[in-house]
Amino acid sequence: MAIPLFDTRRPVAPLRAAIDARIAAVLDGGAFILGPEVAAFEAELAAYLGVRHVVSVANGTDAITIALQALGVGPGDEVVVPSFTFYASAEAIPPTGATPVFCDVDRDTMNVTAETVKAALTPRTKAVVAVDLFGNPADVAAIETLGVPVVEDAAQAAGSLLGGRRTAALGTVGTLSFFPSKNLGCFGDGGAIATDDDQLAEEVRVLRFHGSRDKVSFERIGWNSRLDELQAAILRVLLPRLDGWAEGRRAAWSNYEAAGLWELVAPQAPTAGAEVCWGLQVVRSRHAELLEQALPGAGVGARGYYRTPLHLQRAFEPWTGDGRVLPLPATDELARTHLAIPMNPLLSRADADAVTVAVRDALDGAA
Ligand SMILES: *Cc1c(COP(=O)(O)O)cnc(C)c1O
Repeated sequence: MAIPLFDTRRPVAPLRAAIDARIAAVLDGGAFILGPEVAAFEAELAAYLGVRHVVSVANGTDAITIALQALGVGPGDEVVVPSFTFYASAEAIPPTGATPVFCDVDRDTMNVTAETVKAALTPRTKAVVAVDLFGNPADVAAIETLGVPVVEDAAQAAGSLLGGRRTAALGTVGTLSFFPSKNLGCFGDGGAIATDDDQLAEEVRVLRFHGSRDKVSFERIGWNSRLDELQAAILRVLLPRLDGWAEGRRAAWSNYEAAGLWELVAPQAPTAGAEVCWGLQVVRSRHAELLEQALPGAGVGARGYYRTPLHLQRAFEPWTGDGRVLPLPATDELARTHLAIPMNPLLSRADADAVTVAVRDALDGAA
């Protein structure tokens, strides 16, 4: 693929020697779980995000489950979550014992809003999972005015800001994933929970370590969910690069604009007041499926990520059967019309021109 959908290799290539040295130091040190690298990374990420606490966990899915449990979500509760997102945003809910309730998104920003969440609230709603989809920050503050706690799922949005605040720190509690293809990706699995709330942070720390504070007394059923020392050491090399990569991703967006691509397909609209670190470049077109077929033949990566939205996935039938789903018109439309095209921090104007030519050719073929 001449221009792949994402490029996890080139941006980290100049850091290879530094990463190798940190891996060697961890092996020499002999501490692999909850050691000095994890503690240092948690402190550095907390400083970067501007929050009091970061607690790292094994992946971004666990981060959501544990954050919800720390908020007191349990059996009998409902948690509102968008249907147009990655499966894990909602998969993380049933392990708490709560019921996922699917809501719609705004067609242009592709995100949940106070309005779309409000339509799904009931007296049993205990929390909302607000996703910063494809890097675009959700308006978490507006959603929190509804009076229900919000877990900000920032798995796709490390490096973005809204109103000068970092994603994962927009509300009471936020979660991140360090899966390799995310904006801040390690070389394996990893995740984190960010909060200013001392008590919530303590709950999360207990839950990630088997429900124990001291490793000898066990207060509750928790999880074995930890970031390992090797990944933390690598992430400490990558984190100082995140803002530079975010700039590169914004430049890529501008390159597409300058190339005239937005005259052919509609880009995801940034949330008002946002500086977006685009995780994916997602566009809307009524010819999305045709483009998905045609672009790879022209050497351009293209993929519809969520053609079957979550409320139609079989795994959720226990909670969506018997027509127990709200009308989700924007979700249904986006499922058909969205398409991810190449995005990475080094995507050049020449790349953007080549993608634009390929899109124009494919659409001409459709006419
Ligand atoms: C990737 C992702 C997750 C889950 O992260 P993992 O680290 O893969 O468990 C959750 N929510 C969203 C929106 C994601 O994109």
